[in-house]
Amino acid sequence: MSPQIPSSSSLASTLATEAIHGGTGPDPETGALLTPVHQNTTYAQSDLGVHRGFSYSRTGNPTVSAFEKRLAALEQAHSATAFATGMAATTTLFLSLLKSGDRVICSDVVYGGTVRVLRQVLQAFGVNTDFIDTSDLNTVKEALRKPARLVFLETPANPTLKLSDIEAIAQLARKAGAWTVVDNTFLTPVLQRPLDLGADVSLYSTTKYIEGHNSTVGGALLTKNDELAERLRFVQGTLGTTQAPWEAWLSLRGVKTLPLRMERHSANAASLAAWLEDRPEVERVDYPFSDSFPQVELARRQQKAGGGLISFRLKGGLAAVRAFAVALQRITLAENLGAVESLITHPVTMTHASVPESQRLRAGIVPGLLRLSVGLEDPQDLIADLEGAFQRSKAEAIA
Ligand code: PLP
Repeated sequence: MSPQIPSSSSLASTLATEAIHGGTGPDPETGALLTPVHQNTTYAQSDLGVHRGFSYSRTGNPTVSAFEKRLAALEQAHSATAFATGMAATTTLFLSLLKSGDRVICSDVVYGGTVRVLRQVLQAFGVNTDFIDTSDLNTVKEALRKPARLVFLETPANPTLKLSDIEAIAQLARKAGAWTVVDNTFLTPVLQRPLDLGADVSLYSTTKYIEGHNSTVGGALLTKNDELAERLRFVQGTLGTTQAPWEAWLSLRGVKTLPLRMERHSANAASLAAWLEDRPEVERVDYPFSDSFPQVELARRQQKAGGGLISFRLKGGLAAVRAFAVALQRITLAENLGAVESLITHPVTMTHASVPESQRLRAGIVPGLLRLSVGLEDPQDLIADLEGAFQRSKAEAIA
C-alpha cells in the first residue's frame, strides 16, 4: 500500500503550519517572504475617503494586521485585535462590554493588573466586581443568581495555577446572559482553546509565550463573534490602545515557533516539577499535569499539556524565598514569564503586591510562594541551578 500523503488542506490546518503561514503570505508588492515593518502613520487616498483598507495607523496598520490574521488562524477565531500591552487588551475589553451599574464575576486568582483595573479604576465608574473561586462550579452557579454582565476567568491562574472549567462555566454564563472571557496567556491556543470550549473572547498578553523572547509588550483579543469584534475594534480605535508595527513584526516572527516552544516548555516544566516534588526544602508543588495536582483530571481534559509554569512553596516562608531566589545563577529573578529564558517571580512582593493581603491569602498567594517560568534551556542545567541555590541558601542560613 502506498503511504498516505496528507492533502494540502489538512496540512494547512495543523497548528505548526498555521503558526508559520496562517493568515498571511509573502508581501504581494515585492515578494518579500516576511511581512515588512510598515513604520508608517498615514495612507494615500485615491479619492475622498477611498483607500486600500488603511487610513491612519491608530485604527489599522498592515504589519499589525498581518499579526492579527496569524493569531486568528491559530485559534480559528473570526477575528483578532492586537493591543499595545496585555493590560491595554483587558482595559479595552472592559470598556467595550461594560457600563456603569454592571457587575463582573472574576476568578479570585488572576494577574494583579486585572485586579487593579477592576478595583482601582473601573469601580469609580460604577462597575462592581465579585472575586470568587471559579474552580468551584457551585460557587459560580451561586454568583450567577444575581445579574452579571461578564465572567472573567484566568486558567491556569496566575500565580497558583488553579484551574477553572471553561466549558461548564461558559454554558452557565450564557444561560445567565453574561459574556465569558478567558485569559489564556499561560497556555496559548496551542495548549488550550477557550473559543472551542464556548468562551466569547480569548485574551492574551502576547508579551509572554506568543512573542516568546522577552522583546516586546503586547496583547490580543480573539473572538468568533463578529458583532463583538466590531465593537472591540471601534473602542480600540477610539482609545488608541493599538499595537505598534515593530512590536507586531517581532511578535509575528516569534509566534512561528510557538507550537514547538510550548511543547518544550511543557516537557522541561514537567521534569522540574517532578524534581521539586522530591526536595525536602519544598512544602508544595503545583503543576497541572502532575499526578499530585488537585485538578489533574480537569487539566488533562481541558489542556493539551501542562504548560511552562510551576508554582511552588518553600518551607521557611519569606526568609527562605529571599535566600533561595538570590542564590540562583542561571534562572533570573524577574517579573515576566513565557519566554526562552527561565525566570522566577515572587508574587507577594512583585506581580501581586497591590492585591489586598486578605484576598492574596485567601487565594493561596503566601510569602513562601514562588512562580517559576521554565524556559528552553537544558532542563539538567536548570535542575543543577535549583540544587545549587538550595545548597547555597542553606549554607548562608547556617553561617
Ligand atoms: N494576563 C496575565 C496572565 C499576565 O500574566 C499578564 C502580565 O503579567 C497580563 C495579563 C498583562 O499583560 P501585559 O504585561 O502585557 O500588560
